Formats: sequence, structure tokens, C-alpha cells
Amino acid sequence: MNSNSVQVWKFGGASIATPELVGNVSNIVGKQLKTKAVIVASAKGKTTNALEKLVKAYMEEREEAYQILEEIKKEHFDYASALCGANHRVLNELNDLFVEIEWILEDPVIDPYDYIYDQIVSIGELASTKVLSQYLQLEGYNATWMDIRDVILTDNTHREAKVDWESTLKRVDKIQSKLTTFDVIVTQGYIASSSENFTTTLGREGSDYTAAILSYCLDAHSMHIWKDVPGILTGDPRLFKEVMKIDRLSYKEAVEMTYYGAKVIHEKTIKPIQNKNIPLYVRPFHTPDKEGTLISSEEPMGYPPVIVVNADQVLLHISTNDFSFVGEHHLGDLFALFAKHRIRVNMMRNTAISFTVCTNNRPSRIQAFEEALGKQYTLQKDSDLKLFTVRHYTEEVLQSLTKGKLVLFQERLKNTVHVVVKELVEYELRS
Ligand code: ASP
Repeated sequence: MNSNSVQVWKFGGASIATPELVGNVSNIVGKQLKTKAVIVASAKGKTTNALEKLVKAYMEEREEAYQILEEIKKEHFDYASALCGANHRVLNELNDLFVEIEWILEDPVIDPYDYIYDQIVSIGELASTKVLSQYLQLEGYNATWMDIRDVILTDNTHREAKVDWESTLKRVDKIQSKLTTFDVIVTQGYIASSSENFTTTLGREGSDYTAAILSYCLDAHSMHIWKDVPGILTGDPRLFKEVMKIDRLSYKEAVEMTYYGAKVIHEKTIKPIQNKNIPLYVRPFHTPDKEGTLISSEEPMGYPPVIVVNADQVLLHISTNDFSFVGEHHLGDLFALFAKHRIRVNMMRNTAISFTVCTNNRPSRIQAFEEALGKQYTLQKDSDLKLFTVRHYTEEVLQSLTKGKLVLFQERLKNTVHVVVKELVEYELRS
């Protein structure tokens, strides 16, 4: 079969959260799909968050873990019964998946957190895709389920696994051969396998990335992300009143936006499809006939201002204790520590005796980083901050964003402004 005729579709948790929404997915498949397809799905609704809580409870040896599991199980059984019927074999398959979690819960806590996390949280995607594929079959589609862990191989950095592209490319024929028999393959986003055959995950919201990996490996005709928004917007509609849909974006612009934290697509998604020039459509699942946003190599004439908000930021001010200048060797040491402790540098600046970075508030990582800094440096933190990144900024947009806030840090580049702010009221109350 000509794999060029394959489309890769991704449905996130919100788009399959209820049985009605799964019905909507089935209608979209019926009306919009003109080629064979690989459908990549997330865990349904907020299952990943619930499983995260379960992991935490287990690791802290709290009985609550069992209770959370019971709730997740019940939700899934109700969901599957509503879609496939109360006697359908998918209920047994779900049960087998949840038994895997029960086995872990019965064991004493020995393994590392991130490893256990991946073994447990991945069940969300395995469960949702079982139900979705069975439902599509009942609806008359020539669909099948596939375990993506047989295809996508990663290293063993649990919770942020790195893809082994060479091995994954070699295994993609497993999908191609299934596509000779089936029209639709339903598989999991976000999860993968290490070479030792343990489950890994690609980072939260990683299902978009899975779809991009598969699009790349299959030389897909196009990739489609179905979302509960009209397309890519100029800002988060929950935070800003006047947002507009952007009809076309270049890969380059999309990479910039997602890198700076635009949550609409996972940041690793664009590169693989850009390398193969595969068009990416971000489409509205509530109004599937409407055009969403097309991301391609084409560079549109201009862009409106696009605002990306990163909440819960911290400024880390690092200074040398002997008042020596922060020289290249210090920066080298500091960056090695950022990489080691997975501190993401969202923005940075250095002055004679101090170096400042803006990063996401990850208390345990920051604490480990602080401990590793040793006696040579002092670390001061400024927390409860927001980072606004504005692409294609205008003065008016900047003024309205910073009004009533304390600007702690600002950086202007040709097309991008970064501003770190603190809400004034909060600041005054605390200082
Ligand atoms: N279910 C995972 C999450 O909630 C992955 C995804 O949805 O993309 O992060």
C-alpha cells in the first residue's frame, strides 16, 4: 500500500472524555476521513491527572491509592458499557489493564518514582484506545487496536523519554503491514517502550508528539490534531477576551510559539513534520466542517500579536560568593547543573556578579539544583511570577499586558518580547 495516503489523526483527552464525544469522533471519522488513518488518542478526560494522584499516594504508602483506582475503574467501566454494551469483551480487557496497577499497589515501594509513574500512568492511554477501537468497530469501521510500545522505542529517561529514531523507523513496518488489512489503526499517544521493554512516557501532553513521530516515520500525507478550539488562537481564550484564529502558520512560527509555551501543541511536535514537509492541520472537533489552522512551510504575509502566558514562574538569581565576575567557566558549570537537574531556562541574563534565569516552578528540581550549587554561589528566588511572551508585539499590547503589574524583567528581540511580572497587589501585601 502507498503509505503516502495515510493520515495521522490525534484526539486529546477532552475530545473523548464522554461517550457522546466518542460518538462525535466516530462521526468525524465517517465524514472527514478520505484515506487510511492512524488515530492517536490520549487517556480520556482527566484520567492522567487522576493516575498521577494514584502514583503519588502509592509512593507515599497511602491507602488512598486503592480508592483512586476504584474511581478510575468505575469511570472506565461505565464509559465502555455506555459505548459497547455491558457484556462486551472490552470490559475484560479493561479489567486486565487495571489488574496491572493492582499488582504494583500490592508490592512494597522499591522502584524509583519516575519508573513507577510510567508503568501506572500509561494505563490511561491503553484503556481509552481499547474502548475507542472497539466502538469504531461496532460502528462498522474496519478498525483495529495497536500497542504503540511495539513501535516507538525510547531511552529509559522515565517521564521524559527520548525517542530512538533509528529503531522506531525500523519497526514502523508493523503499522504499514496492518494498514494493508485495516482502514483505521487506533493507538496510544504519549507512551512508548524502552529497549529493556519497560513502558516509558514522552512528557505530559506528549500525544501530539507521538502523532508527529508516526507522521514522520510513515511519510504521512498529513497530520491532524482535533481540538476543542477553532484552531490556533492569538492567545488563551480563558485568559483573554479578544482572541483571533490564525488561519495559516509557518513551521518556524509554530516552533517559536510552542517553544515559548503556547499550550495548543506539544513543543516537540513541529520539528519531525517540518523535516518531511508534512502539513499539520489543527481542527475543531465541535465544528469539524470548519477550517482550523494549517501549519506548513508557507510563510504568510504577517502575523497578529500572539501572547503566550507561562504561569508559576520563578526567577533564580545566582551570585558568586567571592564577588568575582560571573565568567564563562561559571556559566559552563551552571548550565551543566541546569541540564542535570532538568531546570528549563525560559529566559536569562547575566550581570557582573550575578546570573538570573526565569524557570518553571519545580520545587524539588530547584532544591536539588540549589544543593548542588555548593558554597561558591548564593541563590535567591523570586516566585509567584508570570512570564508573558509576545510574538509580533505592538506597544499597545505590551502596555495592556503589564498594566497594574510590577515588571521584574524584560527582554526585547526583533519579533519577540519576554516580560516577567508580579501582580502588584500580591507584591505589596507580601513585601
Ligand atoms: N494523557 C497525557 C496527558 O494528559 C498525554 C496527552 O494527553 O497528550 O498529559
